[in-house]
Amino acid sequence: MKTLLQLILSMIAVGSEAAAQECARERAAMVETIQSYARSYTGVLGPQGMSERVLQAMGQAKRHLFIRERSCSIAYADTPLPIGRGQTISQPFIVAFMTQLADVAPDHVVLEIGTGSGYQAAILAHLAQKVCTIEIIPQLAEAAAKTLKELAYDNVSVRAGDGFAGWPECGPFDAIVVTAAIGQPPPPLIEQLKVGGRLVMPLGSAHATQQLTVVEKVGPEKTTSRAVGLVRFVPFTRSKE
Ligand code: SAH
Repeated sequence: MKTLLQLILSMIAVGSEAAAQECARERAAMVETIQSYARSYTGVLGPQGMSERVLQAMGQAKRHLFIRERSCSIAYADTPLPIGRGQTISQPFIVAFMTQLADVAPDHVVLEIGTGSGYQAAILAHLAQKVCTIEIIPQLAEAAAKTLKELAYDNVSVRAGDGFAGWPECGPFDAIVVTAAIGQPPPPLIEQLKVGGRLVMPLGSAHATQQLTVVEKVGPEKTTSRAVGLVRFVPFTRSKE
């Protein structure tokens, strides 16, 4: 015979199992939405659209654990969400899109500027060898580092500071993803990019829509860039030091 305590514990286990299944369903639906949006971007992404690797990473990372509500019905809707201190976690499609444009391979070292919740860093961590990410708001950097550690993303390093100067000790980088808007790419980021590497970032005024841009470093002193679509990101701010 089960004791009352055992009965309660097994009911809780059944409840959390059902919740986990519901989350997995919501996450799978999010991946399908991303895949269908990607079909209208074949001009930018090529005929194969979003790669299987990126879709798999989106299907694995638990976005609901990166937001305050920790609710799956909220987390897996294709919308941006507030993460505190006036900042937002990007819409899942945009996270997948930027990741695809960064073209991350398993042996790559990747830099992200604008850690926010840590979700984009987690997606990159599924695909790269090492991810370094910088967040200017110390409380967000601390919270993201804690979440990433709890979820065992051991190949991610988080630093609090102004990402304008990049992170030379962590680079050079195969790809850099910037998730805050500024008019021009910060020169140190271009310097820290390997030849053949890509910088994916929103360029333009923070008060309007920006052009999501892929800057490719084609030679030691030479870059090419292409605009791939309009986006709206929070401002890239500068530290006053
Ligand atoms: N990639 C994040 C979304 C972040 S929103 C996620 O997946 O949740 C953009 C973030 O960029 C904000 O948290 C903001 O504080 C940060 N940011 C703005 N300017 C910055 C700078 N100069 N250096 C580092 N982070 C910056």
